[in-house]
Amino acid sequence: MFSFIRQDLTKFTAYTPHPGGNSGEPVKSPLLLDRLDSNECAYDLPLELKEKLALTYQNLIETNRYPDGSHFALKDAIASYVNESITEPNIIADNISVGNGSDELIRSLLMATCLGGEGSILVANPTFSMYAIIAQTLGIPVVNVGRNEDNFEMDLVAAQDAIVSAKNPPIRVVFVVHPNSPTANALTTNELEWLRTIPDNILVVIDEAYFEFSQNTVLGELAQHPNWVILRTFSKAFRLAAMRVGYAIAHPELIAILEKVRLPYNLPSVSQVAAQLALTHRESLLSVIPEIIAERSKLISGLSPLENLHIWPSNANFIYGRVKTDNPSNLEQKHAELMQKLKEQGTLIRHTGGGLRITIGSPQENERTIERFLLIGNG
Ligand SMILES: *Cc1c(COP(=O)(O)O)cnc(C)c1O
Repeated sequence: MFSFIRQDLTKFTAYTPHPGGNSGEPVKSPLLLDRLDSNECAYDLPLELKEKLALTYQNLIETNRYPDGSHFALKDAIASYVNESITEPNIIADNISVGNGSDELIRSLLMATCLGGEGSILVANPTFSMYAIIAQTLGIPVVNVGRNEDNFEMDLVAAQDAIVSAKNPPIRVVFVVHPNSPTANALTTNELEWLRTIPDNILVVIDEAYFEFSQNTVLGELAQHPNWVILRTFSKAFRLAAMRVGYAIAHPELIAILEKVRLPYNLPSVSQVAAQLALTHRESLLSVIPEIIAERSKLISGLSPLENLHIWPSNANFIYGRVKTDNPSNLEQKHAELMQKLKEQGTLIRHTGGGLRITIGSPQENERTIERFLLIGNG
């Protein structure tokens, strides 16, 4: 209708949280749903921390003033935290840029690299959909390669070939997730070796959104690879999805560019304080992770009687599965039906990447996931 809008945007649909029905509208349900479709932590911030945050809001935050646009205190706290995951701590505030969720950082990285026909991005599917979605809204071409379906290792031959052959525009950014979503596998030795060979005119984004669950990180190698950037978030293990805080760790010169392209006051004061509070109390917040990992094993073994469901191993707080079938042409329909039936029972999972992704919830939620799957599987 509006002729002033870019033509290429007309074919996109807006991102729907908790998509449900066939037309993709958000879920409406008379039941209280177990929301196991977004990989959040099952537990809210403890009440005492919410009270601390509320008190800070009440007493220290001036709502008439702009937030700290330098994020200085938060960056310092993040640097100390990430240094705990490497043997030779070398990360300082200058290595960090903070975003309104990692999503904002993904967009900043794309704006800083590929915009204006300068480059395209490479992703291996299935993977986190936001890279391609954000790229497309910016008019940035996406080059897709596949994965080995046994362990979801990227098709490295195709990936290397794409890097060598893509010319107009060339590939400027490679996105990987460690461990990947939705398939839950960490980067393999082959993948890591390949990433190390990527020339320094290409940016390598290693998204470690699930680091706290996997403990897999490439942070120790960052200093040797100035063309690498690591993304992490407060949305998962730190229980702050509502606050929208993510961060990038990279060479100070790359960070300086991210600081240039972001909006000046991208992170509300409350979000900054919440992230600092979560870091201060990280020991108690992260103490539920062993439970989540034990629950993951229980969920996988609880679903194992379903012989038609293939569940892959997981390094994250979610699992990925596919229906086994001799007739791949109706596979996606089967997944959609299974998701829909679970929703009718009260469990929301995600149908994505040619399979089903199920977040590890509380022990009660996981019990119900198993019960409901078995009920549907046998009925
Ligand atoms: C959940 C998730 C994020 C987090 O995004 P935020 O914008 O920080 O909430 C980033 N990357 C991946 C792969 C994720 O699954």
